[in-house]
Amino acid sequence: MPELPEIETIRRQLAPALEGRRVERLEVLDARWCEPAPPQALEDALRGRTIERLWRRGKYLIVSLEDDVHLVMHLRMTGNLLLVDNAGDPPHLRARIALDDGRRLLFVDVRRFGTGVVLLGSDALAEYFASRLGVEPLSPDFTRDALGALARGRKQPVKAFLLNQERVAGVGNIYADEALFRARIHPLCPVGKLKRAQIEDLRDSVIETLNAGIDAKGASIDDFRHVDGARGSFQERFLVHDREGEPCFRCGTPIRKLRAAGRGTYVCEHCQPRPRVRRAAPR
Ligand SMILES: [Zn+2]
Repeated sequence: MPELPEIETIRRQLAPALEGRRVERLEVLDARWCEPAPPQALEDALRGRTIERLWRRGKYLIVSLEDDVHLVMHLRMTGNLLLVDNAGDPPHLRARIALDDGRRLLFVDVRRFGTGVVLLGSDALAEYFASRLGVEPLSPDFTRDALGALARGRKQPVKAFLLNQERVAGVGNIYADEALFRARIHPLCPVGKLKRAQIEDLRDSVIETLNAGIDAKGASIDDFRHVDGARGSFQERFLVHDREGEPCFRCGTPIRKLRAAGRGTYVCEHCQPRPRVRRAAPR
């Protein structure tokens, strides 16, 4: 599933091509993409409007158009956005936006979990995100104190905590593993038990990992592609993720795969010591 760096990569590639262009028309080819809203409602809202800004919040991409109209897209598992100047349609096309320069933006999605939502007005947009997303990790709001406040008192394992979009927005399975390795924190550590210095390391590691992913233009281990169909290269730089049995770059210990938060999780149990389990009863 694309995470923050993959979405940011798409945003950077698309923004210069979209901003300032007018939408001639949107066609929703798969009503599931925008349900429960009828496709016609989205098509009417976008038609003829100029795109002012393409931006990102967590893993969402937002096309903000004139008159405070916003198209919010989420790629979910297998969604991709392609910018094309030819007329042919690729398979699994769910929605198509025709721009006034003759180019077309295509939302392609094999598994059909991707979504498009139109929100009218900044208040509706703010409300939509307020109920779904926590702190934006590449914003100035993501401080040690902010992360510490979110973690305080929680027994949840730190990996599950990082994957929860309502706490920290945009971090998924890959970047959580990589950030925890950098911070030398075991994925099963209860997040509320982390020391102040560990919280600081975790914050720094999340930022470093996300920026490394953006520098590599994302990771293409499954369906993620750039807007021109090219692949990202972050998968070639993974420190632990997807490296089961291979030596840790830091200490040589074989990387282990375990399950945390229901997800395949990669860890060096030398660099990231397991949390001590408190005994049930005294000896
Ligand atoms: Zn190690």
